[in-house]
Amino acid sequence: MPQSSGARFQFDRRSVEDQNPAATARAAPVPFNRPSLVGRELDNIAEAIRRGQLSGDGHFTAECNAIIARLTGSASALLTHSGTAALEMAAILCDLKPGDEVILPSFTFVSTANAVVLRGATPVFVDIDPRTLNLDPSKVADAVGPRTRAIFAVHYAGFPADMDALAQIADAHGLLLVEDAAQALGSFYKGRPAGSLGDLGAFSFHETKNILSGEGGALTLNTPVLVDRARIIREKGTNRSQFIDGLVDKYTWVDLGSSYLPGELIAAFLHGQLERVDEVTRRRRQLFARYFQSFAALPSRHGIDLPRWSAEVQGNGHMFYLLLRSAAQRSAFIAAMREEGIGTPFHYVPLHSSPGGQRFGRSAGGMEHTDRTAERLVRLPMFFDLEDEIERVIDICLRVVRKLDGSGATC
Ligand SMILES: *Cc1c(COP(=O)(O)O)cnc(C)c1O
Repeated sequence: MPQSSGARFQFDRRSVEDQNPAATARAAPVPFNRPSLVGRELDNIAEAIRRGQLSGDGHFTAECNAIIARLTGSASALLTHSGTAALEMAAILCDLKPGDEVILPSFTFVSTANAVVLRGATPVFVDIDPRTLNLDPSKVADAVGPRTRAIFAVHYAGFPADMDALAQIADAHGLLLVEDAAQALGSFYKGRPAGSLGDLGAFSFHETKNILSGEGGALTLNTPVLVDRARIIREKGTNRSQFIDGLVDKYTWVDLGSSYLPGELIAAFLHGQLERVDEVTRRRRQLFARYFQSFAALPSRHGIDLPRWSAEVQGNGHMFYLLLRSAAQRSAFIAAMREEGIGTPFHYVPLHSSPGGQRFGRSAGGMEHTDRTAERLVRLPMFFDLEDEIERVIDICLRVVRKLDGSGATC
């Protein structure tokens, strides 16, 4: 069985990229992401089949819920089929209605905003702090109005947002505070784990995240009154879980809901990954540190910025990014890296300027830091098995940066 070696899946993406002869003339390409087996995923799937329950909420789902609650220091955790589903459940639990508003960053993935829009409520976009790329609490305070019901804070790149400042605003105005912790399993804020910092937290196990099951997610809950309702919402609006627990004698439709739970095969795979979370986080933090040290001279010599984070937070090595000098320099960088066979995608098209954001949301205040960040940011390859390739990625990055600057000078 593959253990820490992290055996690759059979459908290695290189086979696709190998069709590019320009890339194969050089060393093997390095994709942005490559999912690995890290533990007992395949044995667990066989065991789930032996146990005879493939629908959700069986043995492995219960085990995963317990591990996630422990890791995140949250009162309770429920597996979902995606991070998007966890955000949708959070929006239902916030009781959002048409006319209500939710404050969130424009610099995030669409699912943070869609969860709000699906309830008929309005996402109100607020600018980020240019140092942390997370919500700027002073701008959140300015954006609160009579219709505000909740704040959805994103922990970008696995570095938690300034949750004490946001909690203070939420408390002062009676708002719910939701963590979009999709990227933040294993991250800490003032020594407290992501997922324990708000009323609700949404995690993702998409194949690009640290811990993965292809598609997958979890909702963490720290407000006990919401737990029973969350279990009902997740089971199509029925009291099926109370029925299974023997708490009610009929199983029936009692509330709003949908099918938000994953099947047991996904939970079995995820369990194999979660058992190895310490090793996964340790490795990714090392890779992050390797990039960070290797690029230490980029800010002073090339005007390229590196990730910054406050001393109050500890990241989980989810992502390593560079902030190039301009949109034009970034396009040239991505093209030059692609020529070398290295995947360096950007992030995100800001939601306030996207067609969906303009149709469904509105901005509160200026968005200069969001715009400026979104046009400069590139993400570098980051995955469990990068160890053998990271030095080459770093060398190529430095060479490309020097070439773009037209200086052959040593870096
Ligand atoms: C990945 C991600 C999501 C969505 O998670 P899925 O599991 O892909 O649905 C939501 N928000 C953020 C910030 C993410 O990075």
